[in-house]
Amino acid sequence: MLINSSLFRPQGLNQSKIKEDFEVTLEGIKKAGLYPNIPIVASAATEPRININGETYFLFSSNNYLGMSSHSEIKEAMVKAANKYGMGSGGPRLLAGNLDLHNQLEQEVAQYLGREDCVIFTTGYMANIGLIPALVNSPFPLTFNGYAKNFVSNNFRKTVIFSDEFNHGSIIDGIRLAGAEKVIYKHLDYKDLDQKVNKFKHFDKKIIITDGVFSMEGDIAPLKEIVDISKQNDCLLMVDDAHSIGVLGQHGRGLVDYFHLTTSDVPILLGTFTKAFGGIGGFVVGRKTLIDYLRIAARTYILSAPIPPSITAGLIRSVQIVRNADKLRRKAFENANYFKSGVQNIGYTITNTQSLIVPVIIGDEKLAILFTDELFKRKIYVPNARFPAVPMGKSRLRFVFSSLHEKDDIDYLINQLKSLRYLLN
Ligand code: PMP
Repeated sequence: MLINSSLFRPQGLNQSKIKEDFEVTLEGIKKAGLYPNIPIVASAATEPRININGETYFLFSSNNYLGMSSHSEIKEAMVKAANKYGMGSGGPRLLAGNLDLHNQLEQEVAQYLGREDCVIFTTGYMANIGLIPALVNSPFPLTFNGYAKNFVSNNFRKTVIFSDEFNHGSIIDGIRLAGAEKVIYKHLDYKDLDQKVNKFKHFDKKIIITDGVFSMEGDIAPLKEIVDISKQNDCLLMVDDAHSIGVLGQHGRGLVDYFHLTTSDVPILLGTFTKAFGGIGGFVVGRKTLIDYLRIAARTYILSAPIPPSITAGLIRSVQIVRNADKLRRKAFENANYFKSGVQNIGYTITNTQSLIVPVIIGDEKLAILFTDELFKRKIYVPNARFPAVPMGKSRLRFVFSSLHEKDDIDYLINQLKSLRYLLN
């Protein structure tokens, strides 16, 4: 049978001379020389040395802060679990794939961070876009006869979310999905936050959301002051501590510990397994009631399959190792601090970073691309962060240091940056 193929062509796509919006955008980005040219890595992309096109390059951009991604005991745990459980989990946890491993990982994390309970998500991104809408809107109807007689849905309460202007994109997307009123306060500016909270006093429900460590700046939220504001104004506080859990605070317990706060000061804490734990996944910890609720309300938990069994098993071992990895944390910070002083001594500007992320400010978008290209010629791979990830004209080379780097690697990097310093003049 002959099929008229035009019937099967999506309307408007390549049919006429009029270009679709996305084609115009793509062409513009490519013409401006701003389309990302990402090398293909043929080895573990979490190690300080990687293989690209058969050659060895230095890598200074992995979030594998403590080297857990290729830790031998973790690999062993993964292989064992792969043999026992196979590859996937066969469906969302509410339907099929609710494994003993998932429950064990949740208990490990809750215990490590001193919380009543934990729920895991397949990625950190999914944790944010599942958690935030669930905090704003309950998915259940106004009355839930027979189950909770006095049940009053949140959905009719006016909610406002206060968000730091540099919060991670997954928080921004979570707020969009939640559909609440959004108020942006200036980066780290708790006085601005305080003023804005005061203006919205009449709202029924107020939520403050901040990153702990900001991923494009490496700086740290003023959590003590934010906690005070949240308490004085009856706000719920949620912190995305993706870059500090495992890294900052005693035994890597994150910002709550770093600022000597208590767990009840930050009732809702989110993290990822993608960074210090070296794997993939996200989690939320808090009171048992919050976690029990998220298991029936967070759509990315209910509607999507969980972390695969082998990775879950690797993560259980990873959490056990990370909580005792003070030596690795010290080494990672020694490396970051060594680079920070070295790169400033040769005339570069860095952000006000206090973490293992060390952004070196370049400014112009194309100049940042030139730096990445020139460093690549010198066998160093470091990506640049530019608009829309950071404001226009504030492009930067985003260096990340781990316990796996050695001083010699960093000396080589600093020398190469020295030879390129003239590009900024
Ligand atoms: N929150 C923050 C602060 C992040 O930096 C990231 C990842 N860059 C995420 C959430 C998302 O984590 P994941 O990669 O696990 O989806």
